[in-house]
Amino acid sequence: MNSLHETEVLVVGAGPAGTAAAIQLVRLGHSVILADRTGQTGGLVRNAFEVQNSPFTYPPASGQQLALAMQRHLSKWDIPVLPLNIEHIGVGDSGIYGG
Ligand SMILES: Cc1cc2nc3c(=O)[nH]c(=O)nc-3n(C[C@H](O)[C@H](O)[C@H](O)COP(=O)(O)OP(=O)(O)OC[C@H]3O[C@@H](n4cnc5c(N)ncnc54)[C@H](O)[C@@H]3O)c2cc1C
Repeated sequence: MNSLHETEVLVVGAGPAGTAAAIQLVRLGHSVILADRTGQTGGLVRNAFEVQNSPFTYPPASGQQLALAMQRHLSKWDIPVLPLNIEHIGVGDSGIYGG
């Protein structure tokens, strides 16, 4: 089992949804842990040959390029992707914990 990480907000998955959620939460001033079992951004779209409808990349890019753009955007907000497979989530004295 992973060790437990305590935080105000735990976002599980660094695909498009988790990436957008983590950035918006940090912009609102929350402390956020973004965890993905692959340790990478992109989620399923990383496998796409060409993504034509992305708000992150223009002109159309491969899924891997889109994943890199997400990674750069997270870096701008100092949000690391922790390589954790989240198996447990709970509420502790000072926030959410997961691991
Ligand atoms: C080949 C292919 C091509 C595609 N092309 C397009 C396209 O051109 N345009 C488009 O709009 N959509 C496309 N899609 C769809 C797009 O990939 C999905 O809609 C999108 O990835 C969903 O994002 P998500 O963040 O909700 O979930 P996901 O992308 O599924 O991300 C979930 C993430 O959570 C992580 N995770 C899951 N469980 C845990 C856990 N317990 N602990 C830690 N991490 C966990 C996974 O590793 C994953 O990285 C394509 C999909 C595929 C497979």
